[in-house]
Amino acid sequence: MPNKVLNAKLLWMQFEDVLAPRLGLTVWDRAVYSYLLRHSLVVGKFRLHFAVMSVARDLGLSNGPVRQAVRRLDELGALRLLERSKTGHLVEMRLPEQIRALRPGKNGASRAPEEPPASALESTDFLKTWALRKTIHDRERGACFYCLRRTPAHVQCLDHVVPRARFGRNSYRNLVSCCMECNFRKGEHPAPNFLRTLYRQGRLTPAELDAHLRALKDLAAGRLPPALPM
Ligand SMILES: [Zn+2]
Repeated sequence: MPNKVLNAKLLWMQFEDVLAPRLGLTVWDRAVYSYLLRHSLVVGKFRLHFAVMSVARDLGLSNGPVRQAVRRLDELGALRLLERSKTGHLVEMRLPEQIRALRPGKNGASRAPEEPPASALESTDFLKTWALRKTIHDRERGACFYCLRRTPAHVQCLDHVVPRARFGRNSYRNLVSCCMECNFRKGEHPAPNFLRTLYRQGRLTPAELDAHLRALKDLAAGRLPPALPM
């Protein structure tokens, strides 16, 4: 792949017309993806080692939004985070055409059949109405997304997987139905860390933890769409 000559026009169009809207990228995600691509695949490097602080400085952002964008891009499959250490992040970049959620279907359709239609679903604010909030609760079938306990309607709430304070959105990709206790205890913590805490406390089995970590990726990649009301 690094040897492949990139078609800049095609890449730019794929980025603006397909990748950003289809994955619901924020302006921070877009800036970080574009920056990392520029310093990796565009100059023939498959992998890139970088310090969040340097990227943030170059983009005129603070560290938090950059770190958050890298995490989101990893969850969405736009890059693969290989290593994270004190010296920085090591990532493997993906071109828009290599991102699984964006690949055309076998029949040449522009979208795989299991993917949700991008238009209405992607732009919907699922906190806006009671009916939309209910679709998220229904998707979890009355169980807390985190601890799996049955959650009667009066103790159900919706949780932002990526907290709003960290630019999390009201998208079906970022909202889950959970019990009040998990909502309170998770707070601003990253969801994978909270799941590991539940595992350490014996509230989740190893298999449940694995399944949940995968579910978080599926959620962010748009593979867990709720059924929209007609
Ligand atoms: Zn719970």
